[in-house]
Amino acid sequence: MLKLDGDFLKVYKFCPKCGGTMKPKEQRGEVMPTCTNQICGFIFWQNSNPCVVTIIQDARGLVLMTKRGIEPDKGKLDLPGGFMKLGEHPLDAARRETREELGVEVEIIDLVGVEMDSYFYQEISEATLVLGFTARIVKGRPYPADPHEITSVVWVDPNNRQHDLAFTNNEKFLKRLRDT
Ligand SMILES: [Zn+2]
Repeated sequence: MLKLDGDFLKVYKFCPKCGGTMKPKEQRGEVMPTCTNQICGFIFWQNSNPCVVTIIQDARGLVLMTKRGIEPDKGKLDLPGGFMKLGEHPLDAARRETREELGVEVEIIDLVGVEMDSYFYQEISEATLVLGFTARIVKGRPYPADPHEITSVVWVDPNNRQHDLAFTNNEKFLKRLRDT
């Protein structure tokens, strides 16, 4: 299991339900932020956050990556993708994120794997569960469609390990390409 430093226990100070004070408390073997108001007793269960990335290769085998324009890991390379929205199907999320970031419509080919990772944002290290899909562009040419989030679009040789990658899931998915 991914080891988190438990900082969410310190960050979530107030109950989102009643506004009472939250304190770390063991719940069925796990320590979770729990409301100290006896009547409320709200437990803020923490789960890994589902994310999607798309792996798009050209005829030469180069992989389409984005250069991040925002923290965390501003300036580093990242696969197109992001967090799934509440209730959103992963395939819809993969198509939406790629469209929003690169201005292209993609067709999802296959699920290539699932990787565990983490995402540090606003003082909280979130555990992420990343679904990686191979995809192909069916409409448009990739460009930084969201110039705030992405500064450029880069075609990367997956065999070159010198790239400055934003997240460990990037390296794991590129390794899958090298190994197949
Ligand atoms: Zn409460």
